[in-house]
Amino acid sequence: MSSTPLKIDPARASALVSQLQSVQDRILAVAKGRPVRLVAVSKLKPANDILALHQAPQVQHAHFGENYAQELQQKAELLPRSIQWHFIGGLQTTHCKSLARIPNLWAVSSLDTLKKAQTLNRVRGEVISSDPSIPKLNVHVQVNTSGEESKSGCSPGQETVDLCKAIVTECPHLNLLGLMTIGAIARSKATTPENENEDFVVLREQRDLVEKELGLDKGSLELSMGMSEDFEGAIAMGSGEVRVGSTIFGERGSRQDAKLVV
Ligand SMILES: *Cc1c(COP(=O)(O)O)cnc(C)c1O
Repeated sequence: MSSTPLKIDPARASALVSQLQSVQDRILAVAKGRPVRLVAVSKLKPANDILALHQAPQVQHAHFGENYAQELQQKAELLPRSIQWHFIGGLQTTHCKSLARIPNLWAVSSLDTLKKAQTLNRVRGEVISSDPSIPKLNVHVQVNTSGEESKSGCSPGQETVDLCKAIVTECPHLNLLGLMTIGAIARSKATTPENENEDFVVLREQRDLVEKELGLDKGSLELSMGMSEDFEGAIAMGSGEVRVGSTIFGERGSRQDAKLVV
């Protein structure tokens, strides 16, 4: 923790808690008893908001997602070690070292090349050998299910299978949790529990393919899919992790206006 404690505005804290609880209730209503992890996406939101949700006795939320490596690093230094961080943004090879050194980085969900996997694995291995209490780093392989040029991620098929295989066989300090997709915005807006999102169909097929090709038990890999617009539909299709930002924290401002601490 920083030496000057972060201020928590009680009105802001109670609004955040009720928004998070309402998302949790909506998750429970569609999950039918299956566990679904809620990652609260706090990118561009101040550390005070995160602490408010982490400290609130009613929720004690631990899983938070960030998109920018430097912002995650700064927040991790400022906030309690009990937070479980997720890196979900576009991953650069140059950021893999600093990310892998964050002891309470729980997962990287945007892994898309072997080189980045090898860097994360090597650096996490160094961290673990100096402090064996630090766990392996969980990863999701990101799949570009919509084929949009603007989206990162492996192509469905061989590229996805090969990267997953390399993580499992060559990266002892990484733990492959499953696959992640962002998907096309238009498909996201059209998603309802009745109207299946094509990106989610592709991700589920890729998960089945990877399990088969790697000889893993069925259901051993999870799907990270679903955001504010479409998380209920994603859960109906088998998602094990949803990443929800604006429904919890409100609309995001621009990156220039973002403040680390308010
Ligand atoms: C920003 C972001 C989210 C959350 O989006 P909301 O629409 O605010 O819920 C989820 N996943 C990724 C990869 C993101 O970048």
